[in-house]
Amino acid sequence: MTYVARYHPYIKRCLKKYPNLKERFRKKGNHILKNPFELGEPLKRNLNGLRSFPFAGNFIIIYIICEECRKLNHQKINKCLKCDEIPENSVIFLAFGPHDFNYENTPFIRKQLEKKKFDIFT
Ligand SMILES: [Zn+2]
Repeated sequence: MTYVARYHPYIKRCLKKYPNLKERFRKKGNHILKNPFELGEPLKRNLNGLRSFPFAGNFIIIYIICEECRKLNHQKINKCLKCDEIPENSVIFLAFGPHDFNYENTPFIRKQLEKKKFDIFT
């Protein structure tokens, strides 16, 4: 499958906060899209359903693979209420930032998933 990146609006805030990482985030994102199941580490407990991938020192990128969300029935924990409206080949990038910051904040970001549209931006 060829995967397409979609972005939670929160990513815009991450890019604003770390503008110098924009290019690295783009590159790492493209890298993840090539093999999202192999590359990311599935997260546990309150982050179950999400995956993380390290980049730029102690930073991580948090994402959801829509195909996986459906296969494992993660719609509820991912608040992915419009799951069937999102193409299956989507990888939704939720956030990136320092490791600890992301683990603390991602549950709150995920809570907002249900109302969001996911941009495809360049
Ligand atoms: Zn989903």
